[in-house]
Amino acid sequence: MSTTTAEQALVSERLDQLLAEHDPQGDRTEFFGAQFDLGLGWVDFPEGSGGLGIGPGHQMQINHRLTEAGAPHPATYNIIGYGMGAPTVMVHGTDEQRARWLRPLFTGEEVWCQLFSEPGAGSDVAGLATRALRDGDQWVVNGQKVWTTMAHVAKWGMLVARHDPGLPKHAGMTYFIVDMQAPGVEVRPLRQATGEAEFSEVYFTDTPIPDTDRLGEVGEGWRISLTTLMHERVAIGGNVLPRGSGPIGEAVSVWKDAPGDDAARDKLMRLWAEAEAARLTNIRAAQLRERGTPGPEGSVAKLVYAELNKRIYEHAMDLMGPAAMLYDSYEMAMPEDISGERDIRKLFVRARANSIEGGTSEIMKNILGERVLGLPGEPRVDKDLPWSDVPRS
Ligand SMILES: Cc1cc2nc3c(=O)[nH]c(=O)nc-3n(C[C@H](O)[C@H](O)[C@H](O)COP(=O)(O)OP(=O)(O)OC[C@H]3O[C@@H](n4cnc5c(N)ncnc54)[C@H](O)[C@@H]3O)c2cc1C
Repeated sequence: MSTTTAEQALVSERLDQLLAEHDPQGDRTEFFGAQFDLGLGWVDFPEGSGGLGIGPGHQMQINHRLTEAGAPHPATYNIIGYGMGAPTVMVHGTDEQRARWLRPLFTGEEVWCQLFSEPGAGSDVAGLATRALRDGDQWVVNGQKVWTTMAHVAKWGMLVARHDPGLPKHAGMTYFIVDMQAPGVEVRPLRQATGEAEFSEVYFTDTPIPDTDRLGEVGEGWRISLTTLMHERVAIGGNVLPRGSGPIGEAVSVWKDAPGDDAARDKLMRLWAEAEAARLTNIRAAQLRERGTPGPEGSVAKLVYAELNKRIYEHAMDLMGPAAMLYDSYEMAMPEDISGERDIRKLFVRARANSIEGGTSEIMKNILGERVLGLPGEPRVDKDLPWSDVPRS
């Protein structure tokens, strides 16, 4: 039997066992726990860490079968933890850290958030100013983060902070996993254009972090952040949904309720073809991807997804006609997961953020130009200067 056939057989056997012993529509935490224990969480992770140590391409087979059986998807309840926190801890964490964090992250019992962006550091996240000072066997953190998705429900946050302002910006950063319930952590909701507050500002005032919650070595913050960021782009743009589902599926539903003229049909079909091409490209990328950190293909997928989504929802709104202007409520809600929103009007407004979150489309184009096309890089004049000597507003 070839390796691939043997791996497929193992996955099928574990799936049969999971579905025979646990109700996919029953208790969510219990089902996710069993999925993790059987190695069907992140199939490429080692045994004991939610995987089987086999090629990541098998995850598509697993997700497809579980979706057909009516099981929920863990990313829905912990989108940042599942797509970004877990692979970062997997690659850079110690055995003890993996054993402590991965299972409750997968089951959704402990939600994660990402504390990278600051008021003065978004696209240039390596310019961040939040300070972490060593104090014996702990660190003390002071500073402000912003746009922190799901901070209001998070137990853990992936925090990058500056441990040494005297070093050049990339070298002076260290990566921590911070307990969001620790003293001195204050979460202040920020309202978005949709009316919801899905993200917050997070303030740290003398917040202690045990050194055991540092990820990687002191000074490795930038290298580890890249793992998180590359996975973020795949998590946002590289998902492989069933054919004709997701935003384009929603636009087709709008068409069924309110069909437009021939020109509108033509536009819908073009968008459908583009969405299918992006989906097939993502399938190929997922199959080719080796274990570890994805490369620039994640940034390309993210760019395509962000721009295409905006055009799909624009067309759906055009099809709806005057009804597209009716917004049912502008109450400020703080969503606990990403399972809810189905209103095209809100999805249209929310899609504006797709080309900002996880790196803007301009930054994705820079990555594409430099790392895929080999074009000359941007001038980076502050790269070798001590961070403290770089002028900033
Ligand atoms: C819905 C949403 C959720 C988010 N969630 C999180 C989160 O959970 N955690 C987190 O840490 N962050 C989060 N962010 C923040 C996000 O990562 C940043 O907004 C993004 O990286 C852009 O940074 P900025 O807002 O500071 O804009 P800036 O970096 O100030 O950019 C402003 C404009 O300048 C352009 N620009 C900047 N530099 C260049 C360049 N070199 N070349 C060309 N153009 C350039 C940008 O494309 C943009 O148009 C979220 C953002 C949104 C919208």
